[in-house]
Amino acid sequence: MRIDLHCHSTASDGTDSPAELVKAAAAAGLDTIAITDHDTFAGWAEAAAAGVRHGLTVVPGAEISCERDSRSIHLLGYLVDPQDGALVAALARARDARATRLEAMVERLAAGGIPIAYAAVLAHVPPGATPGRPHIADALVAAGRVATRDEAFARWLHDDSPYYVRHYAPDPALAVQLVRQAGGVAVLAHPFARARGTVGLGDDLVEELAAAGLTGIEADHPDHDPPAANRARVLGRRLGLLVTGSSDYHGTGKTARLGQHTTEPEVLEQLHTLAAAARVRRAPSADSG
Ligand code: AMP
Ligand code: FE
Ligand code: FE
Ligand code: ZN
Repeated sequence: MRIDLHCHSTASDGTDSPAELVKAAAAAGLDTIAITDHDTFAGWAEAAAAGVRHGLTVVPGAEISCERDSRSIHLLGYLVDPQDGALVAALARARDARATRLEAMVERLAAGGIPIAYAAVLAHVPPGATPGRPHIADALVAAGRVATRDEAFARWLHDDSPYYVRHYAPDPALAVQLVRQAGGVAVLAHPFARARGTVGLGDDLVEELAAAGLTGIEADHPDHDPPAANRARVLGRRLGLLVTGSSDYHGTGKTARLGQHTTEPEVLEQLHTLAAAARVRRAPSADSG
């Protein structure tokens, strides 16, 4: 059983449609993937239908953008009820804020001598997709300003860039609560990826989220070097968290390969068990009519 629990599609900033993602995963010899687009469930139905065609299990998920002390944190929410009002509203608010923020970044870039039209950026956002910085990168590539998304991030789009603009995102403790109340399980994505000159989040924040109902932590990930992955594994075990491994595949938008890192079948089983328990807790009692 080969399981990759963190993959993006054109429902956000991946370059494969949900059906292409599933087809590519089957071709890569994977048995199960999770579709985890940024702040949306928009790719679920297409991915599930493709999963049936290709004999591949698709775990529904989303990578929820969060923010604490101006720092961006990503939380994977799996097996949530896509109709849950509070979660749906929080994701819609984040997506709206992302659109406004992309326009603000385009204005800053133009003021800084990198003229790019907002309409040109929008042309790279697939219909219904969650807009993100990679779509600005795609417009810059199309305009011949840079060769790759990577180069656009390295030069102008990274978090410390003068052109960077924040967007609304829920606090991670609130997001954990939203995921649990939506009958799902929450896994902290790539906690120790390097950003802003530091090595990821502090252990104290992970401890706080574990106490708030976090279920798991991503250890094996392309943005974790071996010490970072080990740190996540050790911390996860100490806090009683499930430990996952994933590729964070983005199609041609990033260098990660599908199945580059994988999750143990026992861990996925536990995620299902704990999500089922969360669903039972939120269900109205059987005798309430
Ligand atoms: P945003 O969601 O708009 O804040 O943009 C963050 C997204 O940009 C991440 O989810 C990654 O998919 C992508 N990203 C970050 N750094 C790079 C990079 N160096 N090359 C390509 N994509 C990147
Ligand atoms: Fe992304
Ligand atoms: Fe992420
Ligand atoms: Zn991701």
